[in-house]
Amino acid sequence: MTEAFPIVDPSTGAAFTEVGMADAGEVDAAVRRAVRAQEGWAALAPADRARLLRRFAAVVDAHVEELAALEVRNSGHPIASARWEAGHVRDVLEYYAGAPERLIGSQIPVAGGIDVTFHEPLGVVGVIVPWNFPMTIAAWGFAPALAAGNAVILKPAEWTPLTALRLAGLALEAGLPDGLLQTVPGRGAEAGEALVRHPDVAKVVFTGSTGTGSRVMALAAEQVKPVTLELGGKSANVVFADADLDAAAAAAPGAVFDNAGQDCCARSRLLVERSVLDAFLERLEPAVAAWRVGDPRGEDVQMGPLVSAAHRDRVASFVDGSTPVAFRGSAPSGAGFWFAPAVLLPDRPDDRVLREEIFGPVVAVQAFDGEAEAVRLANDTRYGLSGSIWTRDLGRGIRVSRAVRSGALSVNSNSSVRYTTPFGGMKRSGIGRELGPDAPLAFTAVKNVFYATGEAPA
Ligand code: NAD
Repeated sequence: MTEAFPIVDPSTGAAFTEVGMADAGEVDAAVRRAVRAQEGWAALAPADRARLLRRFAAVVDAHVEELAALEVRNSGHPIASARWEAGHVRDVLEYYAGAPERLIGSQIPVAGGIDVTFHEPLGVVGVIVPWNFPMTIAAWGFAPALAAGNAVILKPAEWTPLTALRLAGLALEAGLPDGLLQTVPGRGAEAGEALVRHPDVAKVVFTGSTGTGSRVMALAAEQVKPVTLELGGKSANVVFADADLDAAAAAAPGAVFDNAGQDCCARSRLLVERSVLDAFLERLEPAVAAWRVGDPRGEDVQMGPLVSAAHRDRVASFVDGSTPVAFRGSAPSGAGFWFAPAVLLPDRPDDRVLREEIFGPVVAVQAFDGEAEAVRLANDTRYGLSGSIWTRDLGRGIRVSRAVRSGALSVNSNSSVRYTTPFGGMKRSGIGRELGPDAPLAFTAVKNVFYATGEAPA
């Protein structure tokens, strides 16, 4: 029996629709449809798969405003961000539409014949995504997987299924075969686990918390099923005394308050060289005060509400008075899951605000003395996803970026993700890489075939 799950507008706190949560039987039916669709898809000429993916990108492009409006309502993302996210889905599809014709194997010199490798599709891929970026993270999985000849079952998070459902509809409108990209909304423990456990699901791409990722990996291990895991983060934003302090302070709010801090790449630890700590905080305070939090439908709004009341309460528990607060930004009051950005000054290295992923608009500031301590503190976490380094010293930028154990770093910039470059974590932040030119290969198996030519082996 399908459970109806209420879908809430985070800016009002009011439910505006509901979505049926699939049970294990519905997941099984979806996988069966996907198996049939994948056989036909893999048999198409590469140029035809490429053409259909380009058409899918064009249909998404024609629906950017609609998708953005859905995301604003379902997830509370500011309209400008949501529009960027929908455009990003289009861009990712366009980028991987080139892949079907570029999955190039190799011919290896051997004696007595010809040896060739093929990149063969895996079959049906499960893509399980979190609620923080429902569209973009879904596209990072489904676009390269489809390009490599697979079918995809997308399981969105319980709270944010609307854009994922619409994207599967747009795939059909674009002419992709029925069943090739299906969105199956459902609870993690029911539909998510059913997908991971299904014997006809050949691979799982999971993005979410480290605890759930570990559970998904254990379930997949029972069938020796490959996984890509994109998990949590506790990234550092390291500001050296020689940095352009104005630029670093101007960028610091966006580094952690973008998407209301509900970002795996959020630089939630701000490490500042002690000799410039006061000068840096003097610059940061007005930048935080100027951070525009409000109705996500406003064109100039930078931050909307948090995704749910429960999540807002969890984030608030980190700003509970036990850790000194340097200053806070502002947020609307009243209905909606609002939270004013907070800058904390923990005085104990074991303070949980320095250890745990908060996933909200909260940043903890720590002072350091010298390059070695900066690297030690940046690495003093079980995570290793993202981070930034601010310095005018090129050599230092290179040294520190090589020493920090993170999958995606930027120097004098906040940037974490470009679809043309690989993205993923080290340590407890995950396994495998998404995006970049090699992403389709992660959805293939290499087959090696030797063709004997009848010549005597040398
Ligand atoms: P979550 O782990 O609770 O849920 C993620 C997804 O997994 C949801 O679709 C959920 O329904 C499903 N799920 C839950 N239990 C499951 C189970 N037992 N089996 C299979 N699926 C299950 O995470 P969340 O709270 O939705 O998202 C926030 C987390 O995601 C944060 O830790 C954040 O850092 C992480 N994240 C990581 C990246 C990255 O690229 N590294 C990107 C975005 C978010």
